[in-house]
Amino acid sequence: MSRYKDEQCRVCRREGQKLFLKGSRCYTDKCSIARRNYAPGQHGQRRKKMSEYGTQLREKQKTKAFYGVQEKQFRKYFEMASVTKGVTGERLLQILESRLDNVVYRLGFGVSRAQARQLVNHGHFEVNGKKVDIPSYLVKAGDVVSVREIRKDNKTIKENVENNSSRPIPAWLEKDNEKLSGKVIRLASREDIDIPVQEHLIVELYSK
Ligand code: SF4
Repeated sequence: MSRYKDEQCRVCRREGQKLFLKGSRCYTDKCSIARRNYAPGQHGQRRKKMSEYGTQLREKQKTKAFYGVQEKQFRKYFEMASVTKGVTGERLLQILESRLDNVVYRLGFGVSRAQARQLVNHGHFEVNGKKVDIPSYLVKAGDVVSVREIRKDNKTIKENVENNSSRPIPAWLEKDNEKLSGKVIRLASREDIDIPVQEHLIVELYSK
């Protein structure tokens, strides 16, 4: 487990920026980026000039890491984005934001997307009153995501709600603290998405 946790910090160090993969630790001075802001490995301290392809690739890897999505699924999202209306890069981010694990994280029920994914996997949530334990489930405008009645006493969720009470909820979501639920008012637009990626580079990479 500790090795896995270190793996998450190695991803941040490789990308040279905080990707907030570990929850509360990321906001403390224990963050590895704060202590060792260079790439992991023997030659990590040597900064190489990156090729155009390398820059595009890193942007894609960073985005995958943010959302915890594997290559196959990420590619599928890209294909979905490219056949629907709108700017492909922005649509890609919108689809990623619509994942149930991301919504659970954004609503403050999880300290990180990884933890939110685990909570969804363990059957703690429902969408429009029906249990959904698939983290990749894509929500739609109007959907209501709630902690299931029988899981409302879950210690982790209760602690997260308390500890995350000051974390802002994005404008496309509306949270009901009493009911432990959140409504998707509309899908996220680019302005709502605070992750520092240049999505057009991903589009360029996949369009080669
Ligand atoms: Fe680790 Fe810092 Fe990245 Fe969080 S933001 S995963 S603590 S390196």
